[in-house]
Amino acid sequence: MAIIGGGPAGLSAALVLGRARRSVLVIDAGRPGHFAADAVHGFLGMENVPPRELRRRVWEQLEPFDVSLVQAGVVGSRPEAGAGIRESRGAVAVDSGFVLTLDDGSTVEAAVVLLATGVHYGVMDLPGLAALWGERLFHCPFCHGWEVVGKRVGVIGPQPVIDHMVPLIRLWADDLTGFLVGPTAGGGPTAVSVSRDGDDGTGDVVVALSDGSEVRVDVLFAPPALGPVDALLEDFGLHHDFESPMTPEPLGLAVDANGATAVRGVYAAGDFAGELPSVANAVQSGSKAAVGIVRLLSGQG
Ligand SMILES: Cc1cc2nc3c(=O)[nH]c(=O)nc-3n(C[C@H](O)[C@H](O)[C@H](O)COP(=O)(O)OP(=O)(O)OC[C@H]3O[C@@H](n4cnc5c(N)ncnc54)[C@H](O)[C@@H]3O)c2cc1C
Repeated sequence: MAIIGGGPAGLSAALVLGRARRSVLVIDAGRPGHFAADAVHGFLGMENVPPRELRRRVWEQLEPFDVSLVQAGVVGSRPEAGAGIRESRGAVAVDSGFVLTLDDGSTVEAAVVLLATGVHYGVMDLPGLAALWGERLFHCPFCHGWEVVGKRVGVIGPQPVIDHMVPLIRLWADDLTGFLVGPTAGGGPTAVSVSRDGDDGTGDVVVALSDGSEVRVDVLFAPPALGPVDALLEDFGLHHDFESPMTPEPLGLAVDANGATAVRGVYAAGDFAGELPSVANAVQSGSKAAVGIVRLLSGQG
């Protein structure tokens, strides 16, 4: 079987499936949004571990199992019943099958596919903001709130973002300023650009306002502009069909209690499946989908 995406969701599934004697191919493009951050926070037993190191440890622990990695992007898929069935190791025959096309033009066959491709974490369109991402610009206080305790913190975004994030981030930040972007009902100044003082990365974050004034902070929070990684969805006959908790745009993909999508043999997990974005949630949903796949292969799915 194939797992598309080797982040926490995909690798969690790979571990469970490998331990269930399944032959697993993880196909991963190696570009998770999380690599922009220096460490993973809020994930039990892995506090402060860099995201790359987390992956390295997982692959080390996958070594005893029949799990292998193909470093590539999957760019297409077509259904082909019976594809990918080599040896069963006790599994019943499943009536699904897929031929995946990789970005080098080669193909891979899989009887069952898990989509764990994550989502695209974009940055709001404001001059200078993207350059701060991961170091001075964060999206989630559960991931980086503890790291900003005692610092000068700003929340930047349109009115609904200010209304939602300022009361939330006040739990972590005593020195907190909201910077409005876009239309303002009260006619007050809005943020027009941000920059960082100095070249060594230690300087203040400077927020320039529409009245010509500047405010200095240490870090900013803004929600990510989440976007779907959905180039493959159409090929699988799927569509995004519910709203993500962090964006008004339809983003997630509905799965049942076993992580199964509406298409037989296609499962989904992690950010891509609309989980509230976190490593812990991705890991649990990858594990859940793996159990669902094992159920299918034991004739109970
Ligand atoms: C900057 C940042 C900091 C974060 N900090 C934290 C934190 O401290 N704590 C926390 O709990 N959460 C944090 N998160 C959220 C967390 O990283 C995600 O919720 C989690 O990684 C989701 O796991 P996933 O496996 O679903 O997707 P991802 O981790 O995004 O992995 C998906 C993988 O699939 C690959 N892929 C995508 N499309 C294809 C394709 N077509 N073919 C092959 N491969 C493909 C990608 O390259 C990637 O490697 C952070 C996120 C970001 C962006």
